[in-house]
Amino acid sequence: MEVKDIKDTDFIKNPVIAQMALNNHEQVVFCNDNATGLKAIVAIHNTILGPALGGTRMWAYTNEMEALNDVLRLSRGMTYKSSVAGLNLGGGKAVIMGDAKKIKNEALLRRFGKFIDSLGGKYITAEDVAMTSRDMEIIKMETDYVSGLPENMGGSGNPSPVTAYGVYVSMKASAREVWGNDSLNGKKILVQGIGHVGEVLVDHLTKEGAKVYINDLSEERLKVVADKYKAEVVSATTMFDLDIDIYAPCALGATVNDETLAQLKCKIICGAANNQLANEVIHGEVVGKKGILYAPDFVVNAGGIINVFYELEGYNRERALSHAEKIYDTTWDLFQMSKKEGIPTYMAANKLGEQRLSAIARINAVM
Ligand code: NAD
Repeated sequence: MEVKDIKDTDFIKNPVIAQMALNNHEQVVFCNDNATGLKAIVAIHNTILGPALGGTRMWAYTNEMEALNDVLRLSRGMTYKSSVAGLNLGGGKAVIMGDAKKIKNEALLRRFGKFIDSLGGKYITAEDVAMTSRDMEIIKMETDYVSGLPENMGGSGNPSPVTAYGVYVSMKASAREVWGNDSLNGKKILVQGIGHVGEVLVDHLTKEGAKVYINDLSEERLKVVADKYKAEVVSATTMFDLDIDIYAPCALGATVNDETLAQLKCKIICGAANNQLANEVIHGEVVGKKGILYAPDFVVNAGGIINVFYELEGYNRERALSHAEKIYDTTWDLFQMSKKEGIPTYMAANKLGEQRLSAIARINAVM
């Protein structure tokens, strides 16, 4: 299902509820506090499966509409991500409007925590852009509805190893679909972005005998990871011309676009970055036509939300990893659905999410 948009002219008369209705958002909460300068929006897209969980993003939006659009889009994405990952979580997200470097402070975060608390657990927050685990500790002073806390506070700590493991098993399922077996031994794999997730992924791939190429903006990271894993460094100008089997975007979004698709020679795209397709509908279709198997990002990188979910249950890394391992089967299932129904893989992933939502909505209705 594609995200629907509303015409600019309609915005003027119906800027909020009409927009919520487009993708069936349940609730949107606007928060304002003049004393601290807090201006925030919490969007709860869907709570059929459980409380809406999703991070808080702090960003200097140019206007309120931009912030509202972002929070509605992101919260809807969380519903699908958790649904496909088999978690009992709904989709939600929060945005705080403003430059984190200029206005983020303890009072603002605690005031935000009080707003979250007032929702009584319908929304649980976590880290996102410009928010840190220290910020979560501060929010936690005012509410228990926060996840992604550091390990020394009983939290789940850094989610990246679980995310990277999910990417690795998803890549193996993709290899099985393309080459008939899931071994990555000898496969040539480009990992773009060797930060928290990318480095652990490189570790898994190297251990399995893949030939790993790495690219990053940080020279320092490149040196560390190249030395440690004997990976080959490639430049941004040449990496998409390489003769590779798999491209793993682990840096930023929108790297699967007109330009890169004209160059890419790989058979699989499977990585951790969010929103890899510059335009889901256009590039989700083109990628398949080019004979490249695209493993949908929100299925592949669900290890992060899986990790946070297990924090709510009393954290246990083994359980989180074991749940992340199921991403192998989910990836495989969506490829089969995509072939059977003749639809692009991103669409099959959305459909899997919708199927679980409607099945659980039905059982909720009979209780
Ligand atoms: P990170 O910030 O630790 O690492 C990102 C790396 O990408 C950095 O080393 C950075 O220098 C590099 N980078 C940034 N722009 C680049 C560019 N244009 N070209 C090449 N390299 C570039 O982030 P992370 O936690 O490893 O996450 C990686 C991606 O996965 C992000 O898109 C994130 O949203 C997504 N993700 C992460 C998790 C998680 O558990 N950390 C979960 C889900 C999704």
